[in-house]
Amino acid sequence: MIVVLFGPPGSGKGTQAQRVASLLEVPHVATGDMLRAEVARGSALGREAEPIMASGKLVPDDLIVRIIESRLQEPDAARGALLDGFPRTLAQADALDAMLQRRAWRVDVVVALRVSDDELRRRVLRRGEIEGRADDNAEAIEQRLRTYREQTAPVLDHYRARQTRIAEVDGVGEIDAVTARIAEALSADGAVVQAS
Ligand code: ADP
Repeated sequence: MIVVLFGPPGSGKGTQAQRVASLLEVPHVATGDMLRAEVARGSALGREAEPIMASGKLVPDDLIVRIIESRLQEPDAARGALLDGFPRTLAQADALDAMLQRRAWRVDVVVALRVSDDELRRRVLRRGEIEGRADDNAEAIEQRLRTYREQTAPVLDHYRARQTRIAEVDGVGEIDAVTARIAEALSADGAVVQAS
């Protein structure tokens, strides 16, 4: 099964995705983590992506689509994956649909985390102080929120139009409480039998 975890920067996708992926017994596929690993390795791809990521803009669609395409061919993704941070543009959503269609798969459910912009700003600045991520600063977060509104939010409309199930989940509260809300939303699909 393919689950897309959707939400603005700082909405807790990464934290929740790890937990939900283990409930679903599918790999957690996070494009941001994969790109940061490339940056850390100093690969050609990482060198290309680094300044774009630091500014809060998106790396080119073709690059991300290639990364996802090869990741979904790994044996651990034979039963599906939990996608975190992808698709982030309409072009990526179209590419994913085409990729899945070749295997007679589809996006089964989109979990959309809801968090207010002010709470997002607070969380990202706090994480910046703790973890030192290059894009967790006041300037980059404003660009990331803009990028989200302009390029990523329309992806949800794409799935609405395709009548893909969308589970809207309140992303504010204790981490465990949010995980429980997501598990509950997914159990309606028979994907998760019980919350951890
Ligand atoms: P967040 O959701 O908190 O902004 P991510 O770790 O998902 O953090 O992404 C960090 C950065 O990596 C993005 O701002 C963007 O530059 C790049 N990135 C991640 N996923 C994608 C994607 N699917 N398409 C384009 N760029 C991406």
